Amino acid sequence: MDDIIRVMLRIMLHILFTFTLISAPVAAGAQGLINQELFSRIVPEEHLLEGKAILTLVDQRADWPAEFRLAAQADIDAVTVDDKPVPFTFTNGRLQISMKSGANTLTIVYRIRFDDPVAQDHVGIEDPSLGVTATIMPQGTFLSAASAWHPLPVDANSRFRVTITGPTGLHGITSGRLVSLETSAAGSETIWQTQRPQSALALAAGYYQIERDRLGETQLLAFFSAGNATLASGYLQSSREYLQLYQELFGPYPYDKFAVVENFYPTGYGFPGWTLLGSSVIRLPFIRTTSLPHEIAHTWWGNAVEIDYSSGNWGEGLATYVADYYLKELHAPAEALEYRRKILRDYAALIDVGDDLPLSAFRSRMSKRDQAVGYGKAAMVFHMLRNLIDDEAFWAGLKAAARDGIGRRYAWSDLQRHFEATSDMDLETFFRQWTLQAGAPQLQLTDVTVMSVDDGWQVSGTILQDAPFYDLAVPLQLETATRNYNQSIGLTEHQNCFLFTIAERPLSLSVDPKNDLFRKLYPEEVPATVNDLRASRMPLVVVARGSEALLDSSEDLLRGLQWQQAPVMNEDDYLAQRPTDKDLLVLGWPKSPELRLNLPDGFTVAGQQVTIGGKLYSEADDVLFFVLPGQEENRVTGYFLPGSLAAARDTARRISHYGRYSTLAFHKGHNQVKTTWDPVGSPLKKLFTKDAVP
Ligand SMILES: [Zn+2]
Repeated sequence: MDDIIRVMLRIMLHILFTFTLISAPVAAGAQGLINQELFSRIVPEEHLLEGKAILTLVDQRADWPAEFRLAAQADIDAVTVDDKPVPFTFTNGRLQISMKSGANTLTIVYRIRFDDPVAQDHVGIEDPSLGVTATIMPQGTFLSAASAWHPLPVDANSRFRVTITGPTGLHGITSGRLVSLETSAAGSETIWQTQRPQSALALAAGYYQIERDRLGETQLLAFFSAGNATLASGYLQSSREYLQLYQELFGPYPYDKFAVVENFYPTGYGFPGWTLLGSSVIRLPFIRTTSLPHEIAHTWWGNAVEIDYSSGNWGEGLATYVADYYLKELHAPAEALEYRRKILRDYAALIDVGDDLPLSAFRSRMSKRDQAVGYGKAAMVFHMLRNLIDDEAFWAGLKAAARDGIGRRYAWSDLQRHFEATSDMDLETFFRQWTLQAGAPQLQLTDVTVMSVDDGWQVSGTILQDAPFYDLAVPLQLETATRNYNQSIGLTEHQNCFLFTIAERPLSLSVDPKNDLFRKLYPEEVPATVNDLRASRMPLVVVARGSEALLDSSEDLLRGLQWQQAPVMNEDDYLAQRPTDKDLLVLGWPKSPELRLNLPDGFTVAGQQVTIGGKLYSEADDVLFFVLPGQEENRVTGYFLPGSLAAARDTARRISHYGRYSTLAFHKGHNQVKTTWDPVGSPLKKLFTKDAVP
């Protein structure tokens, strides 16, 4: 992986991991199903969509909707009913047409300009949509379902036949089966037909090369730009593999096609039957095995089975669990354990008690904090559920949810119902504590004693938690020289005790050694990382004496950390006031001993030179960044140590993409070192020294 890719990797991890677009809610059965025939001409140079929608009722006895939503900036050229013009009103994106019963066909002709700006510089933008709802440009077109680029009948779903036309070579993609795709000197035309009722469609368009394959009756399609066309067959191959895997786990794939479509700016969207990935995203080698399966999982979870957002978005946690997490478990169990630890560390680093939210309040990711809960915690909830009810009941529950939930809006409670049915267990307490309550339990291990008994040893102790009490099955592991003894003890209130009787001398005792529980980690279990700076509520920038010029060159660093508003002090003022309750970011090499960089063993600091792993970093092109524990518990201090102002400017924007790391070294803007401190230890692990064991 070259360095550009490596940097892109960080940028993408920041931007990506997708969310599914929320369309307008539809009350089931309020109105009849509508057939919409859409003709959409895209005029890229003018940012223009010329549209014609021909609507008919599937059941002619049903009522017409009284109102449609359409982009507020639309110009409506004509509204006709059975070819006769009818009066209408159109204000604030609400189109009201008085429809007589018995009317057969409603036709709406309109033009809409879409020109949301697409930022070139994504530093510091947490919103994965990059703030773009809809845009038509020569470089490409993206129209979200929420933009209302076609008429959205209020309280009714539609089946769509969509004809997208544009300049020669421009093809548009939306949901549904590809009916035809033609190109001539006069222009290009693409036609799609959907089967499943939907409330709204998203659309992308661009100058693509098209590659096709199939899996049974399912069309597999790739729409890639010429520059990325060689990647298409690999994406189709992976799509086929993941669709096969997920069909085994969840049941039949719910759509006619799956298309991987390139976008001209960095998105990672999952729509019914297709995914839209940015050009720079598609080129990253790991996307095929991370984002792609995540988006394919969303075709079931979030698209076919819709999400009842009013009681919390469970779709991100489930897609994360069955894709990002579960694929690691299948192929590399050690990475799966590390993934669970990362979730817990992110939660510990990014969430303060004051800004935690229950899963029932998570809607979509607008910040790293939302992600730690809505993706991370929720994935751990599915993990704990699977451990509680066992594999068979877990996958059977998902299969039942996919079968019964298609076209329905599901809440956490609907998933609970399916898992209760397949496990024959009452899961009320489980779902209540994990989805309605914010926070996480913190466990304590006390009164651990080792006694010598007739034919061996007894190890006993107590597990404690503070209110609010969680109902937990706490895994314990007792290690001896030859084997591990495992047991799980139930903890429902303040405390419970445990007892191991073993024939061998015990060496250590660990609570939750494999991080199978979602719990609050102790500071000793969480190394100081860039994410701690990013999550800081009490930031303070300290400019080292002699490094005043560095402040300007650090602007992108502060933006990336969301520290634009942080107060700034020079080193002498800091020493005079000594605020201790702050997370510090020290710019440049401090002169005073109080702020000196104290690195653990393995690093050598001499003057303004640091040796890491035998390599000396001292040149003008080098940049070092460290995050260390701060003066008070739960506080951290970061050090930004560039060899020159030019190097600082080159590197500043990259640092926030390395959120999980404690030590970073860059040379000419390219990352050379990224490491995380080892956890110091855990109060939940007890080592038995020779003296402690009778
Ligand atoms: Zn997602």
